[in-house]
Amino acid sequence: MQQLSNDRSFVTAGTVETGILGDMAALNLARLIAVAAETIAAHAEELTALDQAIGDGDHGLNMKRGFEAVRAEADAFAAKPLPDALKAIGTKLVMTVGGASGPLFGTLFMALGKEIATDPDRASLTAAFGKAIEAVAARGKSQVGQKTMLDVLQPVHDALAGGKTAAEIADIADRAADATIPMKALRGRASFLGDRSIGHMDPGARSSCLMVAAVCDVIGG
Ligand code: ADP
Ligand code: MG
Repeated sequence: MQQLSNDRSFVTAGTVETGILGDMAALNLARLIAVAAETIAAHAEELTALDQAIGDGDHGLNMKRGFEAVRAEADAFAAKPLPDALKAIGTKLVMTVGGASGPLFGTLFMALGKEIATDPDRASLTAAFGKAIEAVAARGKSQVGQKTMLDVLQPVHDALAGGKTAAEIADIADRAADATIPMKALRGRASFLGDRSIGHMDPGARSSCLMVAAVCDVIGG
């Protein structure tokens, strides 16, 4: 179990870590948006291929379009207090991503913005992220184990709560996306395939993993 010390470093099993989200005040939101948009764009074809296998093949373009739209206004978002910035990013994603994932990722960011403190420490970020995941699950009428984005988001939340480092969290997200391969889809378009959804990675799990990688890269330090 980690404890927060006054300087907001983390004490984990006797070692002090000042990495991921140890100091959100230093967060460069414009850079984070740029890295996330770059990562999604670099993997758009991969996301499309994943969605071609068990969906309708639009996920790569959906995500690329949405994150380009967010990137186009990155400076305006970054000028806002963090809660307002996240809410505005969520709204922009709802308007631009489309598909099932647009409203769900939009809900994730909007709920995160609603719950998060202006200058959050890791504990409050973790709590806000937990609430945001609950909002996605409510919106999608979905839960962990159904081969969706939740199968990456929830383990990432648990890793944050468990005091893992940025590199560890990125790795956990990667493995969580891989772990959707043998699952049978029970929500979203892929669920129409029944057993034929087995053997393919969930596109939204993969895009969630890419977003987490971008955050860990920028904030992890
Ligand atoms: P669409 O399925 O409408 O074409 P996308 O291709 O953009 O939308 O997004 C598909 C992804 O959305 C899936 O891979 C899955 O991760 C996520 N998703 C779909 N439905 C749900 C749901 N009910 N709850 C959580 N995630 C979902
Ligand atoms: Mg699709």
